[in-house]
Amino acid sequence: MTRIWKDGEIIAIENARPSILTHTLHYGVGVFEGIRSYAAEDGSAGIFRLHDHLRRLFESAKVCGMEVPYSHAELVQGCIDVLQANDLQDGYLRPLAYHDDGNLGGLGSVPPVHVAVAAAPWGAYLGDEGLSRGIRVQISSFRRGSHEAYLSKAKICGQYVISTLAKRQALANGWDEALLTDTEGYVAEGTGENLFMVRHGALVTPPVSASILPGITRDTILRLAQQQAGELQLQHIEERNIPRDELLVADEVFLTGTAAEVTPVREVDGVTIGEGRAGPVTGGLQSAFFDLVKGVSTAPKGWRTVFGALVR
Ligand code: PMP
Repeated sequence: MTRIWKDGEIIAIENARPSILTHTLHYGVGVFEGIRSYAAEDGSAGIFRLHDHLRRLFESAKVCGMEVPYSHAELVQGCIDVLQANDLQDGYLRPLAYHDDGNLGGLGSVPPVHVAVAAAPWGAYLGDEGLSRGIRVQISSFRRGSHEAYLSKAKICGQYVISTLAKRQALANGWDEALLTDTEGYVAEGTGENLFMVRHGALVTPPVSASILPGITRDTILRLAQQQAGELQLQHIEERNIPRDELLVADEVFLTGTAAEVTPVREVDGVTIGEGRAGPVTGGLQSAFFDLVKGVSTAPKGWRTVFGALVR
């Protein structure tokens, strides 16, 4: 990653350093997204569900009372420009809207908002082996907050403290990822992924009203599951809370996210899930997902923002 889009321009990354007095650095009021672009077989590339990610960025900003000084269309172009400036077709995009310098002690100040978009090459977030064989996860002692004290629908910088600590703890303890329970003890989601289980012919995921981020990959998977319910031998698709003991006896468990894509889970807290490898529903949904993002199957209108030849 050498070049970055910042406030409407492509600039060298070393010239994009914010000040030490950046309000967001001190207080966490900033919003971000994680978006992927995929190369297609025909030589083009497509950014997956870019419009939905940018919509969520604007909504997260609204929740924080932040005025993003760029339009949706300008940020679409910024995402394309930064991929091309870095010669990327397969890439991960990280738009970030943050508040500029606050005066020291200025918790209540509302400094101007800047937007930057970084782009980097990125393989499988939880490893190639994780994607094919499945990962081992720990149910964390960290929890997702309740709606009384937490803004779970928005992707706000400061809210990632708990996710970060849970992920670090899981890695330090030899696990691949952490799952977080909510304040009632239901298993809500991963540190940056939504949670699904398959049990007795039903595909189950916590509802949007739970303490989860309503993931765009989660929505993609729910739609694919509806379309392919017959082939996948799914009798029901249920959005409901998942108690810990039910998760341990699931036939299949998997995580979804822009970074994690569709990653099977083979072990939870030392308990083997199903056969200990990616099950048929997970495998079927994973390949349907990759066909969609890579342009092999036809995506619904507006889901793939195709951009052309690389500019060198
Ligand atoms: N939950 C959390 C806490 C996340 O950070 C993410 C990643 N954005 C997700 C779920 C998955 O969301 P998406 O599929 O939109 O990437």
